[in-house]
Amino acid sequence: MNSFDLIVVGGGPAGIFTAITAAENNLKVALLEKNKRIGNKILIAGSGKCNLTHTGATKEFLEKYGANGKFLKESLNKYSPEKFIEFFKKNGLPLILVEESGKYFPETFSSLDVVNLLKLKLEKLKVTIVHNVKIENISKDGDEFIINTENETYICDKVAIATGGKSYPGVGTTGDGYIMAKELGHKIVPPAPALAPIFVKDYMFEELSGISFQDTKITIWKDNKKVIQNKGAVLLTHTNFSGPGILDNSRYIENGSSLEINYIGKDYEFLNREIIDEMNLDGKKTVKKVLGQYFLPERFIRRILTAAEVAEDLKLAQLSKEKREILVKLLTSNKMEISKVGSFETAMVTKGGVALEEVNSKTMESKKVPGLYLVGEILDVDGDTGGYNIQAACSMGVLAGKSMKRGKEK
Ligand SMILES: Cc1cc2nc3c(=O)[nH]c(=O)nc-3n(C[C@H](O)[C@H](O)[C@H](O)COP(=O)(O)OP(=O)(O)OC[C@H]3O[C@@H](n4cnc5c(N)ncnc54)[C@H](O)[C@@H]3O)c2cc1C
Repeated sequence: MNSFDLIVVGGGPAGIFTAITAAENNLKVALLEKNKRIGNKILIAGSGKCNLTHTGATKEFLEKYGANGKFLKESLNKYSPEKFIEFFKKNGLPLILVEESGKYFPETFSSLDVVNLLKLKLEKLKVTIVHNVKIENISKDGDEFIINTENETYICDKVAIATGGKSYPGVGTTGDGYIMAKELGHKIVPPAPALAPIFVKDYMFEELSGISFQDTKITIWKDNKKVIQNKGAVLLTHTNFSGPGILDNSRYIENGSSLEINYIGKDYEFLNREIIDEMNLDGKKTVKKVLGQYFLPERFIRRILTAAEVAEDLKLAQLSKEKREILVKLLTSNKMEISKVGSFETAMVTKGGVALEEVNSKTMESKKVPGLYLVGEILDVDGDTGGYNIQAACSMGVLAGKSMKRGKEK
């Protein structure tokens, strides 16, 4: 008989940690996954090295999820990064901190080791794992949930939908959970790609693919107002801006937003003044040589000079005020109209999803359907790169699992 206390739909980090915690809580649990194995996204996380979490106190964590981050206060407090790190240590796969980035990885830098550990843990706790089973719909009949797959029907007292978002559909996340949640009466905030490259109109770095800038000031503008400004790495590709700093900022882009990049780490006034001083000191120096003093890649300097229509051998004394100002602007505040954000195929997470006001952030239970839990990326909350998304998914899973008592909801 396919009857369980809890059925978890989706074997990503959120579903796995819900299942583990509920099973530890003595519930009879089944985990249903449409792929032939669980943890597909864990396998590709951090390019196969699996960046599981980040350094920082819970308060600092909360800031990494934008305005909706406050929803995670309870889950991150109850299951903090320290407890997550402890979990892996206790289970024989300690995490190590890569100091420069603040990211935690398994000491073997292997996503596969993480998935194997979690699978073993589920098996030890006697969680029934069913692979290759796509959930078509979920309904509630009295106190019981009825879960239909193509060939079978499952019955349970509680159900957790942990089907993730719509990004990287190739690994199984095709937005199925939104339909299930909607059918059960939940509102869905329109999903959109996030942690994705940014495309701008008249992109000028097609030839400079591979050049990157560390600790770059990035600003997103909308209607002449700053939406967000922070620092991060920027990578130039053939067609767009990418790199962690760009991916993080992509979460804040709306129609009509623009992107501003400061490649040089000095503001407009400062750089302008420095170039004037340099000109007064030695007007025979070429403009190109002066820009070289700022540790910019040569190919990049050439491209900027071309964009400003400044010849490579032009001397400082010959540089007009107008051209100097164009150059300084390009380097310190290169503002560009955004044409689009990368598609769901390339986005690392999905923003939008099940509306948070209909889910109890202290238990992860639906406020509309007792016994229904919603965990992980399916919800309208998403974080920066750096381990914040897996941590959030697992913290939500643990909170849900801890909140569940055996027996039917009244
Ligand atoms: C390339 C890439 C790299 C990433 N790297 C990192 C990183 O290093 N660190 C980090 O913190 N985050 C990373 N992320 C983001 C992170 O992987 C996700 O935010 C996280 O996995 C979300 O967890 P989840 O359990 O909510 O959903 P998911 O991990 O997406 O899991 C959902 C599961 O549900 C299953 N499913 C969907 N529909 C059904 C259905 N109808 N029936 C049955 N099963 C179903 C899916 O197959 C999937 O296994 C990365 C994402 C990508 C795409």
